[in-house]
Amino acid sequence: MGRRRRRKVQRRPEKRIPTIFTCPSCGEDSVKVEINKNEGYAVVGCGACGLNKKVKVTKLTEPVDAYSEFVDSFYKEETA
Ligand SMILES: [Zn+2]
Repeated sequence: MGRRRRRKVQRRPEKRIPTIFTCPSCGEDSVKVEINKNEGYAVVGCGACGLNKKVKVTKLTEPVDAYSEFVDSFYKEETA
């Protein structure tokens, strides 16, 4: 007895985590999402090929949501 297990608490401090996603156009992991919640939009852009788009956001929008909209519209535009 008396053996204490150290619990590993993996808390991530709420610091700015770089949100990097894969670009649908060039395939590089260089898509960044910058959300401007106050302004109501996010800028999603690829640092490798320069593809970028402004998407609307709400208070509930996560970077991944903005990213998926970015991907969606990319494919829509491509097939249009
Ligand atoms: Zn790209």
